[in-house]
Amino acid sequence: MADIIQLLPDFVANQIAAGEVVQRPASAVKELIENALDAGSNSIIVVIKEGGKTLIQVIDKGNGMSETDAIKCFDRHATSKIKAAEDLFKIRSMGFRGEALASIAAVSQVCLKTCQSDQELGTEVLIEGSDIKSVELIASPVGTSIAVKNLFFNIPARRNFLKSNQVELRHIMEEFQRQALSHAGIFFSLSHNDTELLHLPKTGLKQRIIHLFGNSYSERLLPVEEETGLMKLQGFIGTPDSAKKTRGEQYFFINGRYIREPYFHHAVMNAYQELLPADSIPFYALFLEIDPAKIDINIHPSKTEVKFEDEKVLYAILRAAIKRALGQHILSPSLDFTMETGYAEVGYQKRTEPVRPPVIQFNPEYNPFKIPTDQRKASIPSNWQELYKIAEQQPTPAKLFEEDKELSVTFQQSAEPEKKTFQLNQRFIISSIKSGLLVIDQENAHERILYEEYLEALSGHGFPSQQTLFPQTVHFNTPDADLLEELLPEIRKLGFDIRPFGPSTYIIEGVPGDLGLGNEPQILEKILESYKDNFSTLKLEKRDNLARSLARRNSIKNGKKLESAEMNLLIDKLFACSSPSVSPGGKTIFITLSINELIKRFENPMR
Ligand code: ADP
Ligand code: MG
Repeated sequence: MADIIQLLPDFVANQIAAGEVVQRPASAVKELIENALDAGSNSIIVVIKEGGKTLIQVIDKGNGMSETDAIKCFDRHATSKIKAAEDLFKIRSMGFRGEALASIAAVSQVCLKTCQSDQELGTEVLIEGSDIKSVELIASPVGTSIAVKNLFFNIPARRNFLKSNQVELRHIMEEFQRQALSHAGIFFSLSHNDTELLHLPKTGLKQRIIHLFGNSYSERLLPVEEETGLMKLQGFIGTPDSAKKTRGEQYFFINGRYIREPYFHHAVMNAYQELLPADSIPFYALFLEIDPAKIDINIHPSKTEVKFEDEKVLYAILRAAIKRALGQHILSPSLDFTMETGYAEVGYQKRTEPVRPPVIQFNPEYNPFKIPTDQRKASIPSNWQELYKIAEQQPTPAKLFEEDKELSVTFQQSAEPEKKTFQLNQRFIISSIKSGLLVIDQENAHERILYEEYLEALSGHGFPSQQTLFPQTVHFNTPDADLLEELLPEIRKLGFDIRPFGPSTYIIEGVPGDLGLGNEPQILEKILESYKDNFSTLKLEKRDNLARSLARRNSIKNGKKLESAEMNLLIDKLFACSSPSVSPGGKTIFITLSINELIKRFENPMR
């Protein structure tokens, strides 16, 4: 047989390798920003067109390159950052593999302009699919600008694989955020299709977090710091009550590099333990400084994984530091812990405004069954017997209305609608019925009522919207924003007046009429959270899921005091539902205790 193994031509090898380094526009953005950081720039401007499909440009004010280097930088394994194998163990720079530019140039059209401070003229290199098209001396400011045009122009399969501009842009923003977060002392700007989306003046870490994630974070951050012979840890964690149900705002950096490290995430979660509401994940932006000799980041080309010596020790130190930060917060949450911490590089901001008490999760006044006092008499359902008739027709697992004529007669004689209902433990609504006692769980019942109302709204004309006092903007992480976009038509039908306002940001101008005002962004966050829960565990259909999520969020909760007229209205609405006996989540809504059962219990002697 003939020999069949051949060496691939360079440009093919480059294309294949490019697949590892550049998966989508966001990965090119990451590499280019890292290069700008490595070049010592104090200003990084990112310009994107059409989700990065037509243009990704990064402009820095760093060291620049000589004419020779401007050409050489596109060679595979061309790097100025390490020279020999042992250097791999003292890596301080972002890049070191020398393959980013070669990979990017293999799959796009690149225009590089660069100039060093001691040069009169700069260099412009045009390169397309690894082919150098031209090299010219040009007038250029000091620093480097790299414009990557038409990514994957020569690999149609890959280009077609890219998602919508909006989705690609979100990935870019996520990448950009990580970089901006870990370099608060550097000016960053991000523009998309000629609109500047983020303008981040150089500042301290806390202020950078607030610029990126919104003003509400100024109340949510607890500083963390720890220094041992092995490492230095600093950053911020979120207060337990501000934890969200979704991942996305957990940032862990090692020597300035964003790392996904489940082991350390676990350490953080472990420190919070029972302080967190179930399934919630706190915000954190933690920076670990460690001797590069003790870690190995050279596991994967994207460099988001890392190997450690002393893993267990690091875990313990990390957990202890978080616990301490939380402990201080719990002991005296109103104290100011965001004072200067002494880390010059990070430059924590001293807070100027007084600490406000934590945000209230839901409006305690909210009570959709509230009836103004003057209307109360009139709206007491006068049709009690009718109501029970409706209920009687429902299939109920507990055999709600057993025949018991003798007693029901007695009951009817003393019938006085107002007196028959009362609340127990601010949770159960107890009502007498023909055959005995009816015990309703108020939260489950209201959830059922709302669920059916929302379902109807979703299939019909929708719910009326109530204008919010002020338009409110909400920022979502990428996956949530993607989800919201998908659900937008339905969410609007439910009464939310909401529209996109920049890539992952939305503006809310109205909420469902029955919701009560205040905290609109949180309400929306909660709905998305529970939507995702339902989606992953129950595989619910979209409308059903949304109706459930919103009903779950908006139902009156146990612990809410209800007046008797309000309880009556709730009962009224419950038995008008198509399935009054189980909540949308499958929980029992009411049980009955029949007179017969009661009699039996009194007849049996105590044993
Ligand atoms: P690496 O960053 O791993 O060294 P790259 O392919 O990203 O590999 O870059 C190759 C080389 O090009 C770098 O080592 C650096 O010398 C030079 N370079 C790239 N981008 C810049 C920039 N923005 N400013 C100055 N030099 C740069
Ligand atoms: Mg690089």
